[in-house]
Amino acid sequence: MPSYDVLVVGAGPAGGATALAAARAGARVLCIERHNAVGVPVQCAEHIPALLVGQMDLGASFIVQSTRGMKFFLPGSPVRETAMPGFVVNRDHFDQCLIQAAIDAGAELMTATQAIRRMDDDTILLRRKSGQSFTVKAGVIVGADGPRSLVGRWVGSVNQHLLSAMQITMPLAAPMEHTEVYFDRDYYAGYGWLFPKKDIANVGIGLKKCLHDPKHLRTKLDDLAARLSAEGKIRGAPVSVTYGWIPAGPVRKAAYGNVILVGDAAGHTHPITGAGIFMAVTCGQMAGKWAAIAAKEKDMRLLLQYDTQWRDLFEDTLTRACQHRITMEDRWEQFPEIIKSCWEAYRVYDG
Ligand SMILES: Cc1cc2nc3c(=O)[nH]c(=O)nc-3n(C[C@H](O)[C@H](O)[C@H](O)COP(=O)(O)OP(=O)(O)OC[C@H]3O[C@@H](n4cnc5c(N)ncnc54)[C@H](O)[C@@H]3O)c2cc1C
Repeated sequence: MPSYDVLVVGAGPAGGATALAAARAGARVLCIERHNAVGVPVQCAEHIPALLVGQMDLGASFIVQSTRGMKFFLPGSPVRETAMPGFVVNRDHFDQCLIQAAIDAGAELMTATQAIRRMDDDTILLRRKSGQSFTVKAGVIVGADGPRSLVGRWVGSVNQHLLSAMQITMPLAAPMEHTEVYFDRDYYAGYGWLFPKKDIANVGIGLKKCLHDPKHLRTKLDDLAARLSAEGKIRGAPVSVTYGWIPAGPVRKAAYGNVILVGDAAGHTHPITGAGIFMAVTCGQMAGKWAAIAAKEKDMRLLLQYDTQWRDLFEDTLTRACQHRITMEDRWEQFPEIIKSCWEAYRVYDG
């Protein structure tokens, strides 16, 4: 049976960053991805903070355009603007750059390969799309398998609070330098967005899941697209449509024996904005380092250091944002005032 120091399940930003860090630290790493190609399909508005590019140090080939900041549109209030340098990227290429760097550092990648079952502590059953099943052994198992993580289920740690999001890509009428966020009473505890990507735009809506079915989401998204067309921001017909889940729950631990969770699987997503790429990569860098050390030392207690390290950086922010989310959901009837106290862009925000 093939044996590895670290098995990374999922090759998104969290898995790619984990595999890269672990391989660079000298571990024998296998990263598996259930899709045929890494980064495809794209289920993302593709915006990253500018500082992440320097932190990753993988060049800039995935950048499509820069953004100067974010504009916020709240009914009955003047448009607010925050300075927040960022980039809109080709997310598929972004994920591929990370995993290629991991491969260059010595990690092995298997696409079209899905984690199926944990047979015992360190033996995992995998299945290829061809139908072939096989087992691998790994000292450390990393769940980087997204918002509805199977690895999370193995250790009883799942995302209970999810937002559902739907997005269309539309031709952009004229170049834009800001991302835009739209609030509406109908977007329960969520928001709409337009993120410009050179001559196209990612236009989407994310809402609290429980109250809304996909039809409702699509209707609201079509309404938003019609509004933005009427305002002369976008034109023509959608080029593509995508959807996905966004974790928006409280902080929980990410290390369970020889299993660690990272990225969306661990709930490393901002519960108000839904942004998760920066945290997925940053926590992946920590996870990979500690996974390699724990495997080498054969001491899984060292994985608790990963839990401490990511909490030191993100726990306060996530906890505060989660409190704001709870307030926003409980007091949604106070829209639009509740937006002003729960979103950092507004002066009454009490973070
Ligand atoms: C519509 C939408 C728009 C978004 N826009 C933004 C944005 O603009 N900026 C931002 O920062 N964040 C955004 N996010 C959030 C962001 O996409 C996620 O936080 C980020 O992708 C998390 O990375 P990850 O690697 O943890 O998970 P993922 O990117 O979900 O990667 C998990 C990978 O694991 C694979 N996988 C799952 N199960 C298995 C299995 N059993 N075996 C093998 N492989 C498996 C999946 O195929 C996938 O490739 C958005 C999310 C959505 C839904």
